[in-house]
Amino acid sequence: MEKALRFLTSGYDADIDQVINGALFTVNYSEMVIVKDIDFYSLCEHHLLPFFGKCHVAYIPSTRVIGLSKIPRLVEVFARRLQVQERLTNQIAETISEKIAPLGVAVVVEATHLCMSMRGVQKQNSFAVTSAMLGAFRNHSRTRMEFLELIKLRAAGGVSNATSAGLACVGDD
Ligand SMILES: [Zn+2]
Repeated sequence: MEKALRFLTSGYDADIDQVINGALFTVNYSEMVIVKDIDFYSLCEHHLLPFFGKCHVAYIPSTRVIGLSKIPRLVEVFARRLQVQERLTNQIAETISEKIAPLGVAVVVEATHLCMSMRGVQKQNSFAVTSAMLGAFRNHSRTRMEFLELIKLRAAGGVSNATSAGLACVGDD
């Protein structure tokens, strides 16, 4: 069990710069870059129960891009910690923003929380959606809509109708 927990929380020891490992490139490209359906597994910090699902990341480069294969690695670093879904979402967005100063970053996370399915409200099939929109994705609704269209959320009606992640595991004990 100790070994498992060390692995599941190994994201605390990861060095972000080492993870990205120099995979930052200067290019002349200013269209949206999207990496979608990144599987992740994390543990909620309130109950130490898993929450897991998919993460979608997009950004619009300014002068630099990040190696595409590094984005799932980045998600993994933040997922392998004790987390709340909102923080996980923000940390991914803010790190990308910090490292390559893009024109905008968008991160959407859809997750099933076992603390929701196994206990409490027992909504077996419900999942929570969180998003972080920075720069152009925050300021331009067309850019945001384009991204949301491209990732086509499982949630009927998109982000706004989904369960707030905050309800997933807080405030019921
Ligand atoms: Zn929980």
